[in-house]
Amino acid sequence: MKYLDEYRDERVARGLVAQIARRATHPWVLMEICGGQTHTLMRFGIDELLPAGVEMVHGPGCPVCVTPLETIDKAIAIASQRGVTLISYGDMLRVPGSQTDLFHVKAKGGDVRVVYSPTEALKFARANPDQKVVFFAVGFETTAPANAMAVWQAKREGLKNFSMLASHVLVPPAIRALLSSRRNRVQGFIGPGHVCTVMGYHEYEDLVVGGFEPVDLLEAILMLVTQLEEGRVQVENQYVRSVTYKGNLPAQNVLGEVFEVCHRKWRGIGGIPESGLNLREEYAEFDADRIFGTQEVTAEEPSECISAEVLQGLKKPTDCPAFAIRCTPENPLGAPMVSSEGACAAYYQYRRHMVAAGPGGR
Ligand code: SF4
Repeated sequence: MKYLDEYRDERVARGLVAQIARRATHPWVLMEICGGQTHTLMRFGIDELLPAGVEMVHGPGCPVCVTPLETIDKAIAIASQRGVTLISYGDMLRVPGSQTDLFHVKAKGGDVRVVYSPTEALKFARANPDQKVVFFAVGFETTAPANAMAVWQAKREGLKNFSMLASHVLVPPAIRALLSSRRNRVQGFIGPGHVCTVMGYHEYEDLVVGGFEPVDLLEAILMLVTQLEEGRVQVENQYVRSVTYKGNLPAQNVLGEVFEVCHRKWRGIGGIPESGLNLREEYAEFDADRIFGTQEVTAEEPSECISAEVLQGLKKPTDCPAFAIRCTPENPLGAPMVSSEGACAAYYQYRRHMVAAGPGGR
């Protein structure tokens, strides 16, 4: 197959569903890691097409969802200062912090801006040398190379008014943490194709790297179910049109040049050793956390939001008592309802709550 439409071909998709149904003789719990994959499952109703024994649960691969509350609070504290421009991706503005969100900081006169890439933030810093420009960088291995490149470029140019509040996270340690949890239900993982496009899949031993279109996901599910039914455990690559074993080496090089692996707290889930990326000491002059003295900011997660359970595949968004009642995209209580990759937003957007409650909804 060469074109996008072919990965949405209904005949091919139904054929794969039939093959999965034939292969699955036991119940299996599978997790797609990435929020983009969750949205494809919901949008195309794949979860409802699968045989009853094959259950999909949704993983922590939504960068906005796993950014810790205190990091949002740090961004809010920095953005509230005079002479500062805080720049980030659109989703980050609506993620609730302890007291408020960046959108409200902006509404009250804070200089908070939205961009599509860190190079736009660099451009703004060059054009506004009297303004302290902070790029709020979140994301997995996918976005980290571009953010690393921005810092590398700023150092090369000697930019004095640019810094980064970095909250990057890594997929392999998160999978290990999920698997080692006593409460784990997941028996097979669909790995995030875009992360593996950058990093390759040599770090994994036991998942199927999957793409983002319906046929990609169904093929990955079939590969996983086949492995499980045959008692095999191995890494396989469904997303061959994008992912190679070693990945994108120039991107990995710039990542290693600017960032180093660190302990990282994941929102709702807690600390996971060696699961994040921080700026290296050589780039400390660009570390907004140090520049603005926010390293010690801490925050308690709100108890009503069960996103920790959702992001670990222990519960579905529709299990949350607040879902679609007190928590909606217009008034989110937790990040998974805000983010365009969040599982709660996917369930809401594709009306899983209406399905759960019948024609009248909740
Ligand atoms: S529905 Fe809202 S409150 Fe419930 S888990 Fe999702 S984001 Fe949190």
